[in-house]
Amino acid sequence: MIPFLDLKTINSKYRSELMEAAARVIDSGWYIRGLEVEKFERSFAAYCGTSNCVGVASGLDALVLTLRAWKLMGKLKDGDEVIVPANTYIATILAITENRLVPVLVEPDEETFNLCPNKVESAISARTRAIIAVHLYGRLAPMQEIASLAKINNLLVLEDSAQAHGAYLDGTRAGNWGHASGFSFYPGKNLGALGDGGGITTNDSELAATLRALGNYGSQEKYKNKYEGMNSRLDELQAAFLSVKLQHLDVENKHRQKIAELYSRRILNSMIKLPVSGADFDKELTSHTFHLYVIRTERRSALQEELHNAGVSTMVHYPIPPYSQQAFRTKLFASKKFPISTRIHREVLSLPISPALSKEDAEYVIEIVNQYRGQS
Ligand SMILES: *Cc1c(COP(=O)(O)O)cnc(C)c1O
Repeated sequence: MIPFLDLKTINSKYRSELMEAAARVIDSGWYIRGLEVEKFERSFAAYCGTSNCVGVASGLDALVLTLRAWKLMGKLKDGDEVIVPANTYIATILAITENRLVPVLVEPDEETFNLCPNKVESAISARTRAIIAVHLYGRLAPMQEIASLAKINNLLVLEDSAQAHGAYLDGTRAGNWGHASGFSFYPGKNLGALGDGGGITTNDSELAATLRALGNYGSQEKYKNKYEGMNSRLDELQAAFLSVKLQHLDVENKHRQKIAELYSRRILNSMIKLPVSGADFDKELTSHTFHLYVIRTERRSALQEELHNAGVSTMVHYPIPPYSQQAFRTKLFASKKFPISTRIHREVLSLPISPALSKEDAEYVIEIVNQYRGQS
């Protein structure tokens, strides 16, 4: 069986470094808000090219707290509109609704699965105050265009970089395109902890200070509470693990890109649409970190079953679009039509890809996919 994602194998590779990091934290006697978090925040900010990184408890919290900080800073208020792709993971939209802001869902570009600048521009209204760009599946959204639209219209840009640690274009990394960027360090992400974790990168020091306070009961000074904050902190143990894993991120991303290149050059089946064609692959060398390798096919369940029968695990990201989720049934956007996103949700299938997937395994997946004839 070829697993979809083998976290045990991924992390076993660094077992001695991780054990050493764990021992260091255990022996320090200091588990929250200490030197390990400081060190990881400093190195991840440097990696992204930003002046600040603030560790929090999860990727969702990174997004929720950033919007909340902007409200406290007077940059957003209840009822403001936030543009967001219709085909994202639900967390992106939860961050907006949680803050009593109004998500305005826009259809993605059908080729890249990411925001399309023209459609973003058409969605801007007098009440729009922010855009959340999601680097879906690890591919950078068109940030130059989005940044210039935001500048002209005086909008905030928040990146949802939960799937794109390390992606870069023209020397600028995911995390350094927007006014702020939310990251998840969930175990399965490209930079994954051994538990939950998240972080925000930004060049805005006032935002960073507000976020730090918000995640710590709204307190900047012990027992003095400036805001109605919450408890959302990256802990010392996860930060120590992340410092280990960060050192290997570029090599792991390169491995993902090699696997993706094999898939893109060798999958030849007219029933299957690739995320990047073999011919275009070189253009994507840095801006796509292939958190997921997502193909499209009209009869997805038949292909999924055929792969399963051949011992290959696949997944669907995501089976139900956010506007069809029960949680959002009373929202205005739940009654709108999103034909492109709906089609994408019906046709996408994620093939195995990870730092632990071997070239031989990828070649086997390619063989099965190439044999698929659309019936089963
Ligand atoms: C994983 C993910 C999140 C949420 O991160 P958690 O750490 O699981 O809270 C948000 N947005 C996207 C696009 C994600 O993939």
